[in-house]
Amino acid sequence: MSKSPANYRPETRLVHSGTLRSQFGETSEALFLTQGYVYDTAEQCEARFKGEDPGFIYSRYSNPTIAMFERRMIELEGAEAARSAATGMAAVTTAILAPLKAGDHVVASRALFGSCLYVVQDLLPRYGIETTLVDGLDLDQWQRALRPNTKTFFLESPTNPTLDVLDIPAIAEIAHKGGARLVVDNVFATPIWQSPLALGADVVVYSATKHIDGQGRCLGGIILSSEAFIAEHIHNFMRQTGPSISPFNAWVLLKGLETLGVRVRAQTDTASRIADVLASHPKIARLVYPGRADHPQAALVKKQMRGGSTLVGFEVKGGKAAAFRVLNELKLARISNNLGDAKSLVTHPATTTHQRLKPEDRAALGIGEGFIRFSAGLEHADDLIEDLTAALEKA
Ligand SMILES: *Cc1c(COP(=O)(O)O)cnc(C)c1O
Repeated sequence: MSKSPANYRPETRLVHSGTLRSQFGETSEALFLTQGYVYDTAEQCEARFKGEDPGFIYSRYSNPTIAMFERRMIELEGAEAARSAATGMAAVTTAILAPLKAGDHVVASRALFGSCLYVVQDLLPRYGIETTLVDGLDLDQWQRALRPNTKTFFLESPTNPTLDVLDIPAIAEIAHKGGARLVVDNVFATPIWQSPLALGADVVVYSATKHIDGQGRCLGGIILSSEAFIAEHIHNFMRQTGPSISPFNAWVLLKGLETLGVRVRAQTDTASRIADVLASHPKIARLVYPGRADHPQAALVKKQMRGGSTLVGFEVKGGKAAAFRVLNELKLARISNNLGDAKSLVTHPATTTHQRLKPEDRAALGIGEGFIRFSAGLEHADDLIEDLTAALEKA
């Protein structure tokens, strides 16, 4: 499999890293829709099972198309190893659960994607793994939550949907001093704008469903880390429990990576233009955009991210009724709970992604009844701005 020399820039790696060409010399990466593999001799088969022969055994374990996707992600992220999964949640659940046992303790930022919160808050305690939720912005809370049995810190940054930015190097340092590892869900930042491993995190997880596909076609996830973490905690767990990605989906995601850089840059430029227009709009009570000087963690954004976000958060004056009017009036941006797509998507978190939370918990996270999350797509920015300003007239 071709490895890119270390001096290639990310854009080049996104196109070339990990390409495994068959004997036919295809330009575009091949899709290997195969469950299993055959062996030339019984001796070769034995060697493969012993791990002495590097080929493939079974597509629950690995597959050439899946291996290409993993290799491209490894080189983009600066990781040593990776394992892809059927969905982002399969990746998150495996990264958190696989290394733990009853009696261990997990600390997580409270501002989590709904299903991540379920895993940490509801699922782990059923297996005797205690969890503490903290305000991720408050470093003292991370510090105070540490116990002798704390094994994992987990966070998302920027957070969903309020786009707060958590201090990854500082939180990694607290974790490491306490003998814990830091797992970062980097979906909102994308690998284009933030590299958690370089910032001190031990494990990075993605829902590849979002920007990595970015065209609304398939689900997928990936865990990236050191060779040792994968070997010790992930490799066997995934092989035996089987949350494997389909080779077809891995192929879609592999091809998605080729355009990830251009898409994320274009979507970020558009999101930043939308944020600038909304910032001074009379119907908007609050605007959050990482990358603007008025973002609450603007200095930290500069320090740990290479760019802003493809998402914009804003609170419409007039609460839920006003927010619903805006959503219903939009012609171009469509109502959805998804994000990172070529098509602009709008979400009302209070009634969708975060409806499971108690109203007071939503308020503590800064998710008001009028809060809208806007995921900028690849449409022309002016069309989206015209669509939004026309809808806001009706708010
Ligand atoms: C969507 C998402 C997930 C889950 O990914 P799926 O591919 O839908 O399983 C996890 N974390 C974050 C931050 C997400 O946005």
